[in-house]
Amino acid sequence: MTLNPADPAFAARLSVLLPQGVLRAPEPRYLEEPRGRYQGQAGILALPRTVEQVSILVREANGARVPVVPYGGGTGLVGGQVMPEGPAPMVLSLERMPAIRAVYPQENVIIAEAGAILADIQAAAQDAGRLFPLSLAAEGSARIGGNLSTNAGGVNVLRYGNARDLCLGLEAVLPSGEIWHGLSRLRKDNTGYDLKNLLIGAEGTLGVITAASLKLSPVPAGAGTAVFSVRDPEAAIALLALARDRTGESVSAFELIHRQGLEFLAEALPQVRQPFAEAPEWSVLIELGLPRGLDPADTLTGLFAAAQDAGLSADGVIAQSDAQRQMLWSVREHIPVANKAIGAVSSHDVSVPVSEIPAFIEQGRKAVAALGDFRINCFGHLGDGNLHYNVFPPRGRTRDAYKAVRDAVQETVHGLVHAFGGSFSAEHGVGRMKTGDLERYGDPVRLAAMSAVKNALDPNGIMNPGAVLKLN
Ligand SMILES: Cc1cc2nc3c(=O)[nH]c(=O)nc-3n(C[C@H](O)[C@H](O)[C@H](O)COP(=O)(O)OP(=O)(O)OC[C@H]3O[C@@H](n4cnc5c(N)ncnc54)[C@H](O)[C@@H]3O)c2cc1C
Repeated sequence: MTLNPADPAFAARLSVLLPQGVLRAPEPRYLEEPRGRYQGQAGILALPRTVEQVSILVREANGARVPVVPYGGGTGLVGGQVMPEGPAPMVLSLERMPAIRAVYPQENVIIAEAGAILADIQAAAQDAGRLFPLSLAAEGSARIGGNLSTNAGGVNVLRYGNARDLCLGLEAVLPSGEIWHGLSRLRKDNTGYDLKNLLIGAEGTLGVITAASLKLSPVPAGAGTAVFSVRDPEAAIALLALARDRTGESVSAFELIHRQGLEFLAEALPQVRQPFAEAPEWSVLIELGLPRGLDPADTLTGLFAAAQDAGLSADGVIAQSDAQRQMLWSVREHIPVANKAIGAVSSHDVSVPVSEIPAFIEQGRKAVAALGDFRINCFGHLGDGNLHYNVFPPRGRTRDAYKAVRDAVQETVHGLVHAFGGSFSAEHGVGRMKTGDLERYGDPVRLAAMSAVKNALDPNGIMNPGAVLKLN
């Protein structure tokens, strides 16, 4: 399909149909992405305020065969929000649609426009005495339209599910420009194909999400946080089972941390206070959200004693105050920042079945060692089987010296993940970075069905070309 650039003639035609100020030239920040791997091109930047304006923008782009790249907070890590090749696109940012349209505390539902920043939705839920549990380090910038389009995960998936699990309905503009009014508040609605779940995780390739109805939860009465050393990843899995046996569904986060991450933290961010005088090889950060009547520190103390008795843990720090809870979380949250400062040769956001994690880590270590002298920082959401598996140069070397082996490292890690029945992208999506992996590891029947859906909904191929599915 031949596409045309969002050039001045197209902009002039559009400006007749829209109020002043909706269109302008994109500033550089709309053309960059957090890891600096892709540089987008400058077409037009569209900043609609209403779903009707989004509809006009997409309808006209479809008529003129101009590519459209939806843009949320720009925090995506796989290059989905920037288009480096092909005709310069219309970047369609939802930032002027940030409204919380309604909150229904009794139904545990909130309706937010796609441009609402995730942290603002959390705050609106809190104001209503409720919890919106989606939480990730980029929540101060990422917008809910982007979160849904990438089916974001984060630290609370274990208890509350990912973005998909938290969405009840959508309002969206399809590639034709038609508006789908699907802001359902229903928890039961068995009436045919699920368009909502097609658009979630589609990374802007099937339409533009303009608003969403989202599930809220009761706020747990007490929150407890602890870091326990664990003998090895197998002991971490056993500890998770123990914690669930003792506290039911109260475990909201269970994060595996490797000594390498703590060493990077000490090296790159020495001001971040660490819980242990001497970093253990493996540790876990546990977060409990408890009902009334259960004291968080007592519950964690009981869990630690049981873990010690079972030979799973030898050392632990249990937060006794909110400040200490924040201190423990700050360690986990700064590990990616330290990783960035050190500079990975190759970063992987993978998942494998939880019980396969120990074998995967062991085989991964051997396979990567066979490629060279690397340091591995493997950490992440253990309870979801989701590991951030990042490979770094040896001390004193920089990643630039390892460009030639980057692809080999990636292929080795993703190949192993595939062999373990895992996914090469647990959280971040496919974007432009992982289209090759999708072609390589994706089930051919599923890929054909995906192409058929794309062609049916977007026959002119205007929506985020080159993301998720490779251009032919
Ligand atoms: C420090 C940091 C930590 C992170 N931690 C996590 C984590 O723990 N878990 C996790 O899952 N991700 C994480 N991410 C990745 C990122 O924050 C998520 O992918 C997030 O959901 C992207 O939201 P966004 O609004 O920034 O989307 P953008 O980056 O703007 O866009 C992402 C994709 O969605 C499309 N899109 C955006 N808005 C819409 C819309 N309204 N309609 C249709 N398509 C749209 C874009 O075209 C693009 O393909 C992290 C990123 C950073 C920088």
